[in-house]
Amino acid sequence: MDQRVVCSIVKLVVQVRLLPTPEQAAALAATLSACNTAANFASATAFTTGARREYGLRKHVYRELKARGLGAQTAQHVIKKVADAYTTLKANLRNGNYGPPGSARRTAIEGKPIAFRAQAGQPFDDRCLSWQIDTRTVSIWTTAGRMRDIAFTASAEQLTMLAVYRKGESDLVCRDGMWFLCATCQVPDPPVATPEGFMGVDLGIANIATTSDGKRHSGRGLNAVRHRQRQLRARLQAKATKSAKRLLKRRRRKEARFAADTNHTIAKQIVTEAERTGRGIALEDLGGIRDRVRLRKPQRVTLHSWSFHQLGSFIAYKAARAGVAVIYVDPAYTSQACSACGHVDKKNRPGQATFCCTSCGFAEHADVNAARNIAARGVAGWAVSHAADDAA
Ligand SMILES: [Zn+2]
Repeated sequence: MDQRVVCSIVKLVVQVRLLPTPEQAAALAATLSACNTAANFASATAFTTGARREYGLRKHVYRELKARGLGAQTAQHVIKKVADAYTTLKANLRNGNYGPPGSARRTAIEGKPIAFRAQAGQPFDDRCLSWQIDTRTVSIWTTAGRMRDIAFTASAEQLTMLAVYRKGESDLVCRDGMWFLCATCQVPDPPVATPEGFMGVDLGIANIATTSDGKRHSGRGLNAVRHRQRQLRARLQAKATKSAKRLLKRRRRKEARFAADTNHTIAKQIVTEAERTGRGIALEDLGGIRDRVRLRKPQRVTLHSWSFHQLGSFIAYKAARAGVAVIYVDPAYTSQACSACGHVDKKNRPGQATFCCTSCGFAEHADVNAARNIAARGVAGWAVSHAADDAA
């Protein structure tokens, strides 16, 4: 047996650009406008009556939406869109995303119905939208009747995805005068190939990720951004003005985006290398990272545990997409054990970056040594958990 069957399904969004004729574009614009006018009406009704769930709201507004010229499906989608928006708002209020109860911002948001822009996106299901992949056209319901043969552009890869995996609703979206359809595709992960060995990955701070091959992914850029961010925060918190708070929030988002970009890039490189060499990936079980790592105080602030978890999950996700095996190993003593002879000793690790075995003399960068231990544990762990497969 050389393949294991995995049945997880990933939802991906394929975005294609529509190339409508001027007449078609006018019909699309009128349709979005009608849908969002209707959504604002339904939203106001939900606000005044308190019927913010789909079923209750439907009783209040369905007839009126039909009377305004929306089809049955479209009316239903408008109601669902409004109900979903109120559910999201409720969750955001509960999580304190608009400030504490009684704050000016929260009171303003709670005090009026949710508003939809005239060109806000609108979902279309298979009864209102059909795809002709071979001719690269769609046919879509509009307030001016069914518009056929609206051309779209897509890459060969996107066309295959649409033809094989598209399922459910697509959102019609207008951005900067351009028209798009965002189609949901449900893609099953490929079977995981039996690995020829494992690549170990050690997660750290100075080096965000180090592989057992000796490749170190430096966190220099990320740590520099965080350092600047921390200094700015200290300065602005002293000010505590409204604009300072806004700026802080914007900076926090920017830092999170930068960390996510860095993590994506690193995860991609690691998974690509494992795939190329036919190996699986061994990761530390991330649960214990915060407890395990002892750091000087300024570094403790740098250590965002969510960023570790994010990198771990990006690697796991990309590995699953590529059919690369992932195994999680016990992280205990990976930094103190010798990856050549197995000798465990605190003194093996004289400094942050260096490893030198007091028993056999093996010397290596400390993170690389740890990654080699993780790789070895991956091999052992895989053998144990797949012994039954080999016997079969
Ligand atoms: Zn040794």
